[in-house]
Amino acid sequence: MTEIEHPLRGKVAVVTGASRGIGRAIALRLAARGATVACVATSAERARESADACAQAGAASGARAAAYGVDVSKTAAVAELVQQVQTELGGLDILVNNAGITRDQLLLRMSEEEFDAVVDTNLKGAWNFIRASARPLMKSRGRIINIASVVGLTGNAGQSNYAASKAGLIGLTRSVAKELASRNVCCNAVAPGYIDTDMTAAIDAKAKETLVAAIPLGRTGAADDVAQAVEYLAGPGGAYITGQVLVVDGGLSL
Ligand code: NAP
Repeated sequence: MTEIEHPLRGKVAVVTGASRGIGRAIALRLAARGATVACVATSAERARESADACAQAGAASGARAAAYGVDVSKTAAVAELVQQVQTELGGLDILVNNAGITRDQLLLRMSEEEFDAVVDTNLKGAWNFIRASARPLMKSRGRIINIASVVGLTGNAGQSNYAASKAGLIGLTRSVAKELASRNVCCNAVAPGYIDTDMTAAIDAKAKETLVAAIPLGRTGAADDVAQAVEYLAGPGGAYITGQVLVVDGGLSL
C-alpha cells in the first residue's frame, strides 16, 4: 500500500521555478508521492514557502524539502547548486526544468535583450541543469522532465523569442533522450497550453474569453493539470517513455 501511495519514496527531485504557479504544483505533487524536493527559484527566500508546503506534504513518507536560489541562466552557479543539492539531500533522481519567463513583443519591436533573456532562461537554463545533473542521473537511472509549451509546436505571433526557446527545449529533450537512453535516463517534455498562473494573469478578460472558446475542453488549465502529467512521467508509469512531448492543453493545439 505504501509503495503505491509513495512511489517516489527515497527519490530526490529538483524542481526549478518552484516558488509559484506550475513549478509549485509539481513540487507539491512529487513531495506528496514521497520524493524529497529541492525547490529552486531566483532566491531561496522566494522558494521557502513552497519548500515548507512540500515538507508538510512529504511528512507521511519521511520526505524532506529545501529551498534554493539561483539564476538558471548562469552555468557555473547552476553546477554549484546541483552539487550542493546532492550533498545536502543525498543524491539526484528527478530533474524538472520548469523555470521560465515571457517578454512578449511583435518581432519588429522586440529588443535583443528581450530575445536573449527568454532564450537564456527557458532554454539555456534547462541545458545548464541537464548538463550539471547528467552524471548523477546516469548513476540513479533518473528522469528529466522539461516544461515546454504548445507554442513551441505551433508558434505564436508576439512570442518569437518564447516559441523559439520552447521549440529549442523540445529539440534538447529529444537529443538528451537519445544520448542518455543507454544509461537508462528518460527525458521527456510536457507542453502545456493555457494555464492559470501569474504568467497568464495579465491577459485581459476579452482575450481570455476568445482563448477559452478555442479550447475544445472549454476551460483553461490549472497548474495541477500539468503537475499530474509530470508526476506520471517521474513515476513508475514513465519507465519506458523517452523523447516524447506530452501535450496538456485541453485540445487547444488540435
Ligand atoms: P510563473 O508563475 O511566472 O513562475 C515562473 C517561475 O520561474 C517562478 O518560480 C520564478 O521564480 C522562476 N524563474 C523565472 N526566471 C528564473 C531564473 N532566471 N532563475 C530561476 N528561476 C526563475 O510561470 P508558470 O506559468 O508557472 O510557468 C512555469 C513554466 O511553464 C514556464 O516554463 C512556462 O514557460 C511554462 N508554461 C506556462 C504556461 C502557462 O499558461 N502558464 C503555458 C505553457 C508553458 P521567482 O518566483 O523567483 O521569480
